Amino acid sequence: MYSDKLTIHYMSVKKIIDWFIPPRCLQCGDNILEAHQLCADCWKKIDFITKPFCSLCGYPLDVENQVNTCESCLVKKPVYESARSIFVYKTEGKKLILRFKHADTTELAPLFARLIFNHAKEYFRDIDYLVSVPLHWTRLVKRRYNQAALLCLCLEKLAPKSIFYSPYFLRRPKRTESQGHKNAVNRQLNIENAFVIPTRYQKRLQGKSVLLIDDVMTSGATVEECSRVLYEAGCISVKVLTMARALLKNDLDVAFDKKEDYT
Ligand SMILES: [Zn+2]
Ligand SMILES: [Zn+2]
Repeated sequence: MYSDKLTIHYMSVKKIIDWFIPPRCLQCGDNILEAHQLCADCWKKIDFITKPFCSLCGYPLDVENQVNTCESCLVKKPVYESARSIFVYKTEGKKLILRFKHADTTELAPLFARLIFNHAKEYFRDIDYLVSVPLHWTRLVKRRYNQAALLCLCLEKLAPKSIFYSPYFLRRPKRTESQGHKNAVNRQLNIENAFVIPTRYQKRLQGKSVLLIDDVMTSGATVEECSRVLYEAGCISVKVLTMARALLKNDLDVAFDKKEDYT
C-alpha cells in the first residue's frame, strides 16, 4: 500500500518535471516520452548486427556458410573464445559512440548496457567477472572517464548477481600510439604488451570465466591482446562484447583522418 502511494507520488513528480524539461533524444535532441532514450527515427538509422555473423568474432556475414565463420577467422582463430558487437560503427551508430566517448554524454551508458544485455544475454551465462578494457592513466585524466568501465558498471546491475566487476583486473601501463593509419600488423605490434594484470589479481582470475567489454572493436588487436593476458593469468574462458564494430577499411581511415582515437 505504502509502496503504491510512493509510486503514484513519483509518477506525479516525474510528470511535472517532464512538463518543464521534456526528455530529449540523446542523439538528435527531439522531444521524446522517456528520458535517456533515442527517438524512433534515430533508432531506425542504427545498423544493428543480426544473423548471419561469424560465430567466433561476430563479424557480419553476407550469407550463412557451413561453418558460420568469416574468412579472417578461418585463416587464424581469435585468441578469445567468441565476440559479438551490437551495431555497426558507421553513420548514426558511429555518432552515438563518438558522443559517448568524446562529448561527455555518459548518460548513454545505461542505454548501451541495456542494448548489450538484451542482444547478447547468452554471453552472461557462466561468467565470473566483467573486465573492462582499460585506458592509460594519461588518457583517463584527459577524458575523465573510461567508457568501457562505465558500460561495465551498468552491465553489472543487469547481469546475474554472481557476476562481479572490478576495474582493476587489467592495467594499461604502456602508452600506445593512436591506432590510426596503422595496418592490422602494425596495430598488433603497437598494442603488444600494453596490458598487465596486477599480481594481487592474478590468483583471483585463475580458473575463472570472464567477459571483456569495450565500446568499439576495430581490427580486434586490443581485445585479442587483453584476452591473451587474461588467459596467461589462468582464465579458462574469455568472451568479448562491444557496442560497435567497424567493418570496412574505409570506415577506419575516415575515422582516423579526423583524429578520432580508438582507445
Ligand atoms: Zn533522435
Ligand atoms: Zn570471424
